[in-house]
Amino acid sequence: MYQITANHPNEYKITIGENCTQQDNFIKETAKILIVSDKNVSPLYAKSITEKLKNNEVMHYTIEVGELAKSYATVNALEEFMQINNITKKDTLIALGGGVVTDLVGFVGSIYLRGIKTIYVPTTMLAMVDAAIGGKTGINTKYGKNQIGTITSPSSVFIDPRFLKTQTKTSWNDGWVETLKHGLLESKIAFSNLFEEYKKNTSDNELAKILYHSCLTKNKIVSQDPYEKNIRASLNIGHSIGHAIESYHTYKVSHGQAVAIGIITESKIALDLGIMNQECYTKIYNCFLGLAKKTPPIKDEKIFISYLLRDKKNTALEIRMCLLQDIGDVYNKNSYLTVISQTEISTAIKFINTEFNQDPQDSTSHY
Ligand code: NAD
Repeated sequence: MYQITANHPNEYKITIGENCTQQDNFIKETAKILIVSDKNVSPLYAKSITEKLKNNEVMHYTIEVGELAKSYATVNALEEFMQINNITKKDTLIALGGGVVTDLVGFVGSIYLRGIKTIYVPTTMLAMVDAAIGGKTGINTKYGKNQIGTITSPSSVFIDPRFLKTQTKTSWNDGWVETLKHGLLESKIAFSNLFEEYKKNTSDNELAKILYHSCLTKNKIVSQDPYEKNIRASLNIGHSIGHAIESYHTYKVSHGQAVAIGIITESKIALDLGIMNQECYTKIYNCFLGLAKKTPPIKDEKIFISYLLRDKKNTALEIRMCLLQDIGDVYNKNSYLTVISQTEISTAIKFINTEFNQDPQDSTSHY
């Protein structure tokens, strides 16, 4: 079993290990517990978690599946359920699910009665290495992803790789994108080791270790800058373009796929600006291409740019991205951000439409 003590913004423990959610009373809360899950995860795992919480009254609430459930409507319905069922400050919320569930439940937990205890039990690889770590909670609005949210610590996090056996191929890909992204931020050695693990379809035993190291990398960065004033922006590599792709395609493209396209495209921007060299770009391209997949083209540049401008890293009318200059080395250590011009964005959109176009007839590789 691995343990990490995180401290952003408050101290909490992350426990990582096969079956760590299968010990009797693994959650040491005495009052009522409300397990919130989605319609896929609840039938798979809510019962097995409930059976272990022998000392508690356990209630359940199930939300719809997918990114569109990360909304005000779901927040309102969940709060209503909690009010009707007299959930008080002594009680505990458990978010059992992927990043949609941990982001949404974390948000509700941070505002309900001005904050109640919330425990994350992530069930996708992406949620284990990323969404459940670092304290960001949030919901989407029609203006874009994660437009409303808080930075608040859960009470604890339990990462049990047993859940991964049922996640889809898309979720495996999504999880590996964020894991490899952490490798890109760490070092050349960490990145190439992780890429080898990814290629060989790593076994269960090694998986807990990989999850642990990935959580450590994220935790190390977040601990230095919990409120994203500087270095935390580096966790956003690939996400400026990635979030805009997700919003533009109304979440029909998965988060990981969009971020993989984002990592390649933002690296291409860095290459074109002379910030990154060709060898580094080629390594990143070769790693993330298989995870990026094809998407429908971006036909309306203005709409795509409007999503880019709503990214929280931007001010006024400037698009700012966090760029890598090398593997393990982020460009511009003053702000960790670089202003990207309209011309560079237009070139990037053409690159995405050519490189990742769903219709192979239309595609002429730029690589
Ligand atoms: P998700 O929660 O939508 O889960 C993906 C799919 O897998 C869903 O259909 C879900 O029902 C299903 N599922 C989950 N666990 C399963 C399991 N064990 N077996 C079978 N099916 C399972 O998406 P996700 O990829 O986990 O997370 C994406 C979300 O995370 C996005 O909203 C993103 O913005 C957010 N995120 C947040 C942070 C953060 O710092 N807060 C970081 C990264 C991503």
